[in-house]
Amino acid sequence: MDKQKIKNALKLVKFPGFSRDIVSFGLIREIELTQGVVQIGVEITSRDPQVPEQIAADIKATIGELEGVSEVKVRMEVTSPQQQATTASENASTPSNHATMQQVKHTIAIASGKGGVGKSTVTVNLACALQRLLEAENKSGVGIMDCDIYGPSVPLMLGVNGQPEIENDLIRPISNFGVSSMSMGFLVDEDTPVVWRGPMIMKTIQQFAQNVNWGELEILVVDLPPGTGDAQLSLVQTIPLDGAIIITTPQAAAFQVARRGARMFEKVNVPIMGVVENMSYLEATDGSRQTLFGEGGGEETANSLQTELLGQIPLEPALRIGSDNGIPIVVSDPDSPAAKAFISVAKKIITLLNIH
Ligand code: ADP
Repeated sequence: MDKQKIKNALKLVKFPGFSRDIVSFGLIREIELTQGVVQIGVEITSRDPQVPEQIAADIKATIGELEGVSEVKVRMEVTSPQQQATTASENASTPSNHATMQQVKHTIAIASGKGGVGKSTVTVNLACALQRLLEAENKSGVGIMDCDIYGPSVPLMLGVNGQPEIENDLIRPISNFGVSSMSMGFLVDEDTPVVWRGPMIMKTIQQFAQNVNWGELEILVVDLPPGTGDAQLSLVQTIPLDGAIIITTPQAAAFQVARRGARMFEKVNVPIMGVVENMSYLEATDGSRQTLFGEGGGEETANSLQTELLGQIPLEPALRIGSDNGIPIVVSDPDSPAAKAFISVAKKIITLLNIH
């Protein structure tokens, strides 16, 4: 028996209500081991007395089972939360209140009928473009809520790989390039098979939406899971949305799925702000354009939804490379054609949201 074994075992203890463990949340302050007696120091900030109680009980049960352990003592240091956060967690149990989003002025969803159309790429670059534009106007910031539980790629694309901290029972988003982000990817272990189904998905999504302290934001961009099923519907009902943007590719088949997505927003009375067509064309050095994935999908989708085509994003290898390296092209090369296209769409969003 050694401290490392105890620490490994502590990774099995989840923070109540989360799928993330107490070690990765950084709550363990000390581990002492003397002749079979284990002493664990835990430091948490919580208003709910049940949270530290539950953690202490779970630690005792988990560590008590280890061979060679005769006694487990838990030293729990609970800091009392500030008044402001008290209000937030009080309201957090009712989905409609959204105290954690009280200082978020606008929330928009980025949706697509199917995966692989570049929804996350667009989300991250649009968020960075919005951030640049708003910062120039001395407005408050931009956040991304990555709800794409099937493939949470925002942390990778935004170059954030830290672990979120908990403060006053709420998760603090992680920032990079001035954009705050919170992702399901932070909360699930990479090697945990993700079988999100039925009620589990609803519960996780609700917790996720309600337990992140976004602070003051001008715009929160929500990256929805692709598709138009129950999970997506439950999400758009859970989060108060000002509008939705549909991402599509130029081919006709994509246009059918995008329309299904749009009907989902109609059901919950969330206005469609517009359509962004991604992977529209590949531009050669002589300026000629090749339309690898067909043409007209974005325009047709926008027409049939009686909304606007907000922009066409070209296919650019540098865009993919930027995403893979965690530096969005809007940040690394704001003068590239793709970045300019994102910035132009961002300007239209700011106008549509009536921010001035
Ligand atoms: P989704 O979120 O819709 O599943 P992603 O944003 O993960 O799609 O994009 C899928 C892949 O396509 C990623 O490798 C991404 O880097 C790449 N990609 C997306 N848009 C473009 C583009 N306009 N040009 C080049 N590569 C792109």
